Amino acid sequence: MPKPQPFLSKSKYLNGVKCSKLLWCDFNKREAFGETDPATQAIFDQGTLVGELARKLYPEGILIGRENMPELTHAKSIEALKLRKPLFEAGLIYGRTYALPDILVPVENNAWDIIEVKSGTDVEEQHLIDTAFQKYVYSGAGLKVRHCYLMHINTEYLRKGPVEPKKLFTKVDITEKIKPYRQGLEKSIEETLAIMAGQEPKVKIGPHCGDPYPCPLEGLCWEFLPKGDIFQLYRGRKERLFALLDQGILKLTDIPLDDLNDKQLIQVKSHRSGKAHIDKEGIGDFLDELKYPLYLLDFETINPAVPVYDLTHPYEWIPFQFSLHVIEKEGGKPVHHPYLAPGDVDPRPEILRLLKSLLGSSGTVLAWNMHFEINCLKKSAKAYPDYISWVSRLEKRFIDLIVPFRGFSYYHPAQEGSASLKYVLPALTDSSYKGMEIADGGTASREYARVTFGENFDPKDLQKVRTALEKYCQLDTQAMIDILASLRNRGI
Ligand code: SF4
Repeated sequence: MPKPQPFLSKSKYLNGVKCSKLLWCDFNKREAFGETDPATQAIFDQGTLVGELARKLYPEGILIGRENMPELTHAKSIEALKLRKPLFEAGLIYGRTYALPDILVPVENNAWDIIEVKSGTDVEEQHLIDTAFQKYVYSGAGLKVRHCYLMHINTEYLRKGPVEPKKLFTKVDITEKIKPYRQGLEKSIEETLAIMAGQEPKVKIGPHCGDPYPCPLEGLCWEFLPKGDIFQLYRGRKERLFALLDQGILKLTDIPLDDLNDKQLIQVKSHRSGKAHIDKEGIGDFLDELKYPLYLLDFETINPAVPVYDLTHPYEWIPFQFSLHVIEKEGGKPVHHPYLAPGDVDPRPEILRLLKSLLGSSGTVLAWNMHFEINCLKKSAKAYPDYISWVSRLEKRFIDLIVPFRGFSYYHPAQEGSASLKYVLPALTDSSYKGMEIADGGTASREYARVTFGENFDPKDLQKVRTALEKYCQLDTQAMIDILASLRNRGI
C-alpha cells in the first residue's frame, strides 16, 4: 500500500524557506536531528508558557486538542468553528497544507481574526512568512479571515503583583505586512512539496545555516571542517569566510595574510607558529591600572520572558548568585564571599546590600565582560533606588579583565579565536571547566530556574543543583585570579 502523503505544516514550510536539505531531512531523516538539547527545550517550554498566558486574554476560548492525524483535528475544528468562540490551535487542512494558528477570534460578518503568539519582542520576517502561510491555509479551507495579528512580548511591561497578560503582550496588526509574502505562495508550496518527495538535496553550508536561527543539523553538515577551521577567525565576516570556503580554504592557517585586520593577523600568525602572542607592554599597561584591594566579581542570572518577580521587565537579567574574591594587597591571599539566593524571593535587595558592604569604597572591581555585571547592578538599583548613587560610584571602579584578550595583548591558539573565559582559562592555565556538572552560564540559569520555579523536579535535585552552582560561580572568579597571576608572569 502506498504511504499516505504527509501534510506541509507551517513549521516545515519555514524549514524549507531556510534550507531545502533541512526540510527534506525533517520529513525523511528525522533521526539526523538527534535529541532536543536542554537549551532548545527551555526555549520550547518558555514558548508554551507564553502561549498559555496569551490564551488568558480570551477566557471564553476553547482549546482544540491535537489528534494524532491532521484529518481528525480538522474535523474537530470544523465542528468547533460553529460555536463562534475564540479557538486555540484549531487545525485546518487545505490541499496538502495544514495550519494551526495559536488563536482564532470570531469577528463581525462571520469572519475570523488570526492571532499568532510569539515569545520574541518584535515582529520578525519569519513571523510574517509564518502568518502568510496560516492565512493561505485558513482562507483556502473556506474561512473568511479579516485581520492577522502578531502578539509578542512587551519589554516595557513592569510586573507589579500577578502577571497581567494584557500588559505583558503587544498586539500588532500585520494584515498589510504579510501581503508581499502571500504572492507566489502556491508556487513556493508546490516546490516545497516536490523537495519533500524527492531525493536528498545537496546544499552547501552558508550564512543561511545560522539565519534566522541556528540549524539543528549543523553538527551533520559542518562536520567535514577540519580542526582549526576558518570560522575560528576572530570577528571574521561571514560572507568573506564562505567565499574562502568556495576557494577550497578550510583551515585558519591557510587564510592569506593580506585582507586581515591587525587582530586577525596576530591570530593567524599565532596559529601558524603554534605559539602564544604576548605583548608585554600592553599587558603591563593593563596591570598597572589595577588598584588594591582587588575585588573579583561575577554574577549568575536568569532572564525569563515572563517576569517572576515584581519590579522586573520581561527578559531583564536578574542576578540570583554572585561570587566575590577579595585580595587586599598584591600577593595577598584571596578571600571568597559567595552568595546564592535561597529561593523564590527577589534576590536583588540582598545582593545589593551584601555587595555594598563587601566592596568597600576603593580598589578595583574586576569582572569579565564587565558591562554585564554593571548593567545588572544598574537595573537592580533602578528597582531599589536607595542604591542608585552607590552603583554609579561603583561603576567607575570597574575594570574589564577581558581587555587584554579582546585587544590581543595576549593570544594563544588554544583560544580558538575566542576571548571568552571558558577558552582563555585552559589556554593560559592548567585549570578548565571540563567535567563540571554546571559548566556554563546558560545551564546555571536554567538549572536555578528549574529547581526554584519548576514544579516537576526531583526534590533531591535541589541540593545537588545548588552545590553545582556554588562550584561553578566560584570557578568564574577563581579563573580570573589564575588568569591574572598568569598575565603577571608573562607581562612583567
Ligand atoms: S546546516 Fe545549513 S546546509 Fe545543513 S541543513 Fe542546516 S541550513 Fe541546510
